[in-house]
Amino acid sequence: MDTTRMRTWAEIDLTALEHNYRTLRAMLPRECRFLGLCKANAYGHGAAVIGHTLERLGADMLAVACVSEAEELRQSGVKLPILCLGETPEELIPLLLELDVTQMVEDLETGRRLSAAAQRAGRTLRVHVKLDTGMSRLGFLWEAGREEETADEIARLCRLPGLEAEGLFTHFADADGSEAYTMAQFDRFLAARAALEERGIAFKICHCASSAAVLQYPCTYLDMVRPGLVLYGWYPAEELKGLDGPGLEPVMAVKSRVAAVRSLPKGTPVSYGRTAVLERDSRIAVVPVGYGDGYPRSLSNRMVMRVRGVECPIVGRVCMDMCMLDVTDVPGVQAGDVAVVYDGPLLERAARLAGTIPYELMCDVNPRVPRVYLPEDRAEA
Ligand SMILES: *Cc1c(COP(=O)(O)O)cnc(C)c1O
Repeated sequence: MDTTRMRTWAEIDLTALEHNYRTLRAMLPRECRFLGLCKANAYGHGAAVIGHTLERLGADMLAVACVSEAEELRQSGVKLPILCLGETPEELIPLLLELDVTQMVEDLETGRRLSAAAQRAGRTLRVHVKLDTGMSRLGFLWEAGREEETADEIARLCRLPGLEAEGLFTHFADADGSEAYTMAQFDRFLAARAALEERGIAFKICHCASSAAVLQYPCTYLDMVRPGLVLYGWYPAEELKGLDGPGLEPVMAVKSRVAAVRSLPKGTPVSYGRTAVLERDSRIAVVPVGYGDGYPRSLSNRMVMRVRGVECPIVGRVCMDMCMLDVTDVPGVQAGDVAVVYDGPLLERAARLAGTIPYELMCDVNPRVPRVYLPEDRAEA
């Protein structure tokens, strides 16, 4: 694709995605299923193309946060099973059924509503039962002293007409931090699974492991893993690098194109609020990327972008649609030059400086920034 007329764009390298998928797949036992996370527009990478690519590569399932995300995948022709990880409002249950989406269910009351709606539609809704083993987010709370009641409730849910209870899952709160806490969560999960087996309920797919557990805890793989971040080439924590053998490759890079280069004398203030004043005669490049594209304003005067292979500091505040770089030390910079906004290392550094994690910066790259898929011939969605 021709990027010369784009102000700022995100390059999505599907070869890197394939490499990451195969690298992760190679860590799993043959019979373990692979669910690829496609929520939040596939972590900013473009859900339709990512969904199709994962389908072609052999993923077993995809997951999204809400029905509208599942709808986007189905409308683009994705056939794989899709798990909706968030609550679905009553009015949208018929849409779930129509799209053939598998729904997370976290309490008996919701299960009853799903069951009634499925019966009204004359269909069966596949559900995955969520357990809260220590994340304190969604799910049946598996707490000491109430195990029997909770298991009874879940068993009742599983027997509701119109539902097929295909899966049981939980989510780790600290898999990139505490092994002890993670294993305590995992033990609760196994106890719940056993209590349900005693009640004659066996789930086809039990799953726990997101990225950090996939990298570190093979014992938690069970029937399926649910990686997101690692699929896109980033690590949940610095210490987890290298656990996957050949290493993962970042799938996304964000680039922009220098709009203008101007020579400004020493003492000139730059951008809103005059937070920067030039300390020498300078060459300042204007780059058309700003917080309106998802680039954090908190990186004003702190981060760099790379032009002609050289890191150039951001001068002054990041504006909505533009920011300024000091290119005084880079000979020959001119309008039309590419500025690398994020590559692997730059995105990690930007996340640290902005006080956040790569997940957030990837999700923040907003729809104004076109996604360009590489290699081009793979991008047909
Ligand atoms: C987002 C999410 C994942 C994936 O997490 P990563 O850290 O990106 O691997 C897995 N499971 C659930 C329930 C999630 O919400």
